[in-house]
Amino acid sequence: MDIKNSYKALGISDEVFEFGKEIESKLSDRFKEIDRVAEFNQLKIIKAFHDNNVGEACLMGTTGYGYNDIGRDTLEKVYADIFHTEDALVRPQITCGTHALSLALMSALRPGDEMLSISGKPYDTLDEVIGIRDQAGSLKEYGITYDQVELTEDGDFDLEGIRSKIKPETKLVAIQRSKGYDDRPTLSVEKIGAVTRFVHSLREDIIVMVDNCYGEFVETEEPSDYGADMTVGSLIKNPGGGLAPIGGYIVGTEKCVDNAARRLTSPGLGKEVGASLGILKDFYQGLFLSPTVTASALKTSIFAANIYEKLGFYCRPDAVCDRFDIIQAITFNREDAVIEFCKGIQAASPVDSFATPEPWPMPGYDSDVIMAAGNFISGSSIELSADGPIRPPYSVFFQGGLTYFHGKYGILNSLQYLVNAGIVKL
Ligand SMILES: *Cc1c(COP(=O)(O)O)cnc(C)c1O
Repeated sequence: MDIKNSYKALGISDEVFEFGKEIESKLSDRFKEIDRVAEFNQLKIIKAFHDNNVGEACLMGTTGYGYNDIGRDTLEKVYADIFHTEDALVRPQITCGTHALSLALMSALRPGDEMLSISGKPYDTLDEVIGIRDQAGSLKEYGITYDQVELTEDGDFDLEGIRSKIKPETKLVAIQRSKGYDDRPTLSVEKIGAVTRFVHSLREDIIVMVDNCYGEFVETEEPSDYGADMTVGSLIKNPGGGLAPIGGYIVGTEKCVDNAARRLTSPGLGKEVGASLGILKDFYQGLFLSPTVTASALKTSIFAANIYEKLGFYCRPDAVCDRFDIIQAITFNREDAVIEFCKGIQAASPVDSFATPEPWPMPGYDSDVIMAAGNFISGSSIELSADGPIRPPYSVFFQGGLTYFHGKYGILNSLQYLVNAGIVKL
């Protein structure tokens, strides 16, 4: 068996293969460390399954109102145990990460309250939720004000800035763990924990909400382990393990989760309704697989950073630093490189490998975006996928890889496209 021939059959030249092989040979210690974290998280999840008696009946679904849905209620207990919170809301009726965050914000804030983001401007799709860009139904329209504190140049929290911006109206402090589309380091759980304690030392009643998208199971602890009142994320990212076909979660204090449930369904109903239909098996199984899937995505990101940094491109996170989420950003400084990179990822996909991605004005984003995603679950970004906002400095953000071997092939193929286009010379 010569694996090189298998790659060749998929379009990878000998020189690209050899380049990748050389890079990969130096990563085994890092990969072992990632597997150690995955093992820890795998055991944490199995323990929660056992403690809550996850049984075959839990994998069935309900219809209609969904009263007494044992699978749904047990899954929420499992999430609460894994995240060490009082309660959890894990629902297919939460349509995506933006919806989960919007629900968390809108259920916690009332007219006259202020939201303070302390990790700079939040993810683009929240602009219209908050009212940074005017939109019907925004928090701003309901008389909820917004302010933000930038991170320091080193990517740390600006404690004095936070202290000075907390006012009597400040009801909620928002933290985004992952860098998203920004050029800044991702925040470690430890740093988030320290600032959570700081905020609570200033005013105990402030709700600390963490956007946990892309961060789940990358470390052995979660923001909720350090007192975050609400930790929020998407099931078509890490915790869905590639199997959840939709969904979002909010874990946190009983009061916050109760408010969110009443906002999601209605004040008199809360968590009591919400049929799970037939998808609970995928929620459970996806969660069960999530630690190793997240590990595959992390290895793919590290492999890519080592490849592209070696070729002289600016990578964030860099090739050697610790990782706190699965996103990798590579700055190419030229539009054609972003497009070729995305074409290479698309062509390596298990589904729609024959499609050619093109930039388009995606709803919620303020510039054209090119997206490469040949996914089993539409838009799922725990599967190997790349997004390039078409704006300087022409960076591509990519994430995912349900298996490391697919992720590795995808990255080699992106490089192959750059080589073929004459943008990179090996
Ligand atoms: C993906 C993401 C979101 C939004 O999630 P969607 O499912 O795309 O709506 C919000 N914040 C961060 C940091 C994200 O990565």
